Amino acid sequence: TPRVFSGIQPSGHLTLGNYLGALKRFGEMQEEDYETIYCIVDLHAITVWQEPEKLREATRMLAAGFIATGVDPSKSILFNQSGVPEHTQLAWIFNCVARMGWLNRMTQFKDKSGKNRDSASTGLFVYPNLMSADILVYHATHVPVGEDQKQHVELARDTAIKFNTDYGTDFFPIPEPVIEGSATRVMSLRDGTKKMSKSDPSDMSRINLTDDADAIAQKIRKAKTDPEALPSEPGGLDGRAEAKNLVNIYAALADVTPAAVLAEMGGLQFSEFKPKLAELAVARLSPISTEMARLMQDPAEIDRILAAGSARAREVAQPILKRAYDIVGMVG
Ligand code: ATP
Ligand code: MG
Repeated sequence: TPRVFSGIQPSGHLTLGNYLGALKRFGEMQEEDYETIYCIVDLHAITVWQEPEKLREATRMLAAGFIATGVDPSKSILFNQSGVPEHTQLAWIFNCVARMGWLNRMTQFKDKSGKNRDSASTGLFVYPNLMSADILVYHATHVPVGEDQKQHVELARDTAIKFNTDYGTDFFPIPEPVIEGSATRVMSLRDGTKKMSKSDPSDMSRINLTDDADAIAQKIRKAKTDPEALPSEPGGLDGRAEAKNLVNIYAALADVTPAAVLAEMGGLQFSEFKPKLAELAVARLSPISTEMARLMQDPAEIDRILAAGSARAREVAQPILKRAYDIVGMVG
């Protein structure tokens, strides 16, 4: 059976973007014909500063988020990255396989390091190599992600190909990104040119899975839009980034196409469409936040789930890492 790997950083509260671009698909793939491995990538999170106590809290909260959105720890392997040292051990090999020029082209590094590149951590620069290791240490072939991670999965492919070529082997499979649905790149509610992100300093830019009904309604009401009514066909959204974003969100939450949303809602003003969107978002998200709150009442149980997941993950990763080190020429 093909193997799926994907991860999310405990770098803040889960957003609607994480849900529609990633988590929603995770639960679905678990029920399809895949072996599924899902990871809370805590080592990726510290590529930018994290308060230790907040990181621990965010890790447990994220575990609750995975479970509340449908990841079943008895069907999928669910664990945190630091519990499986094989990821970082393979990442070192990949630091020596991937090229500076490849990493220099990564847009996430450019976005996150901002203007002052010299003060970015070196971890932020080599982040994609650790992500390649996350995937390849399980020989995973399918990587469900949002559009923003496509470039990193392509780097993982290039790294697998270069490793195989350099060492004359076919050891690593070439992983494929799985980017599906109408909300693979949910945009900020305040700025239609920026993606919605957990780590955005503005809470109004995103809907958190833990937001209550009032907060969701308020954020949607205040979301940036243009003064035109909704068009009746998707082509009418060209050049209207904010409007397009809200329609895509509606479509993804309702599990229909943007064209179907517009066929029904075309001609509505945003003052009419936004309350409908808010109602749908609350209906979809409130059971998730209720379940997350329930799970968070027993953090020790969450820690047990993650420890058990790490043990299962190591069983898969250890022999693959061992073989990779043999191929490279390590004695032992
Ligand atoms: P950060 O701001 O710390 O990078 P993030 O919101 O980008 O947080 P990640 O942990 O980096 O979240 O990514 C987790 C998954 O969510 C990835 O598969 C990523 O592609 C997906 N994702 C993140 N943001 C969006 C978005 N706005 N729309 C769709 N998918 C998204
Ligand atoms: Mg991100």
